[in-house]
Amino acid sequence: MCINFMLYIKKVNNLLAKASMSVLFWFRSDLRLFDNTSLFHACEQNQNVKLIYVYDEENLRLGGASKWWLHQSLQSLSQDIANLGGVLNIYQGDTRGILERVISEQNITRIFWNRRYEPDLVLLDTDLKKSFQDRGIHVETHNASLLFEPFEITSKSTKKPFQVFTPFWKHCLERGLERSTLKIPQNLSSERISPLHVRDLNLLPKHPYWADGLDEMWVPGEKAAHARLDEFLERALLQYKGKRDLPSVQGTSKLSPHLHFGEISVGYIVQRVQKCLFENPSLDQDAHHFLSEIGWREFSHHLLYHIPDFETVPLRKEFLAFPWEDNQTYLKAWQQGQTGFPIVDAGMRELWKTGWMHNRVRMIVASFLVKDLLIHWREGADWFMDTLVDADRANNTASWQWVSGCGADAAPYFRIFNPILQGEKFDPRGAYVRAHIPELARMPDQYIHKPWLASKFVLEEAGVKLGKNYPYPIVDHDVQRKKALSLFKGLKN
Ligand code: FAD
Repeated sequence: MCINFMLYIKKVNNLLAKASMSVLFWFRSDLRLFDNTSLFHACEQNQNVKLIYVYDEENLRLGGASKWWLHQSLQSLSQDIANLGGVLNIYQGDTRGILERVISEQNITRIFWNRRYEPDLVLLDTDLKKSFQDRGIHVETHNASLLFEPFEITSKSTKKPFQVFTPFWKHCLERGLERSTLKIPQNLSSERISPLHVRDLNLLPKHPYWADGLDEMWVPGEKAAHARLDEFLERALLQYKGKRDLPSVQGTSKLSPHLHFGEISVGYIVQRVQKCLFENPSLDQDAHHFLSEIGWREFSHHLLYHIPDFETVPLRKEFLAFPWEDNQTYLKAWQQGQTGFPIVDAGMRELWKTGWMHNRVRMIVASFLVKDLLIHWREGADWFMDTLVDADRANNTASWQWVSGCGADAAPYFRIFNPILQGEKFDPRGAYVRAHIPELARMPDQYIHKPWLASKFVLEEAGVKLGKNYPYPIVDHDVQRKKALSLFKGLKN
């Protein structure tokens, strides 16, 4: 009886101590409630977890399209939290200063967040964690955005991080992709501790019409991410392998911006794909191909985490000596979709209008910038970071280095895409080009990817006036190809 009473008192004291604790959850690249690891653990152990988001322009360095997405995503998250009776508190400014202020004003004793993997943000987070712990604050962090922690994956033979995709992914598959998911917490604090609202962050573009195409194409937020996954699994997974390379077809998931902002967990996506495969074994090749693309995302984060200067320095150091050309006219023509190569221009216009570009076309336009125009891949990567809604420091850098031939497991430098042949192979009827370049809509299929070879009569019939309503090619692909090859060959290994 006496022991029972003492246990009871201890339990009550524990509960009182927990109730007096002030707990903070800090949203970052994990703008969701379902399967959000640190949010789940924060709410599991504590009552009234205060929720904050800090918009720190300096360390996030977001491009225009990403800012648009972030605005919508935060609005959606705020609403989802409000539906559960909670409040998302918005802050703007220097991360450290804001966290310190919130911690002291709100008497925070426990703080939770999910990890990020960009090297500068890892340094910041490590530093913050240490300084909070030194003050006696409990800091708890988890992984919520990758299947594997980059620091846990090393090659068995070299004991070093991987630099080649195939053994990396094989190693990951051996460890297993299965993940369990965590439910949406219910005990979110309804206390408003910041007067700011999402609109006060001024994330929407100043130019009123620029985002029309984004509005038309996307619905950011957790619910929309789940709807997109459902639709993809139902509609496109079955033919993913065969159709993922055709830009005029809805053959891929378009989950990339949702994944980047953490509106859906990668573990949940994998779980759903595996369930589909279990129920329908004929999906085998499509499902495994899709999972390997998720694998490229893991690999890109692995590289960025382990190589601190990955975003600016080529992995293959001989490329430091490459004589890139600084041609602003060519760069502008590429950015504006005015190169005279229809598949390249269609891609660049799709990007400008919708904030997204099909993967096959991303490879073609990137190869064109680097190997036809001989412009530094960083220029292309920067433009993508500004204009993509899925702009992602890991995926973007790894892909640009890969296309340029200077990255991990990269496409060899001598693989130079021919934009005409690529167009004819992956957009044979020109449906993709016609959708994005209305000036060429009436060109016959035969010339849709090379209008400059059409006769005067054909051009006239199609209403195309080369040099007036659509440009002549700005370079001769064969000449540029030879030039690039000789420059690449000149690099010392
Ligand atoms: P799906 O085919 O449905 O693939 C599912 C998911 O796998 C994607 O959402 C994405 O998260 C991941 N994925 C697919 N392909 C790749 C890849 N090659 N590398 C890494 N992850 C991949 N992807 C970005 O998310 N952000 C970028 O900033 C980005 N920049 C790129 C730049 C270049 C030059 C190239 C060639 C590719 C780039 N990619 C980038 C990779 C790829 O083009 C996109 O992830 C893909 O087109 C997104 O469409 P999806 O969601 O329909 O892909």
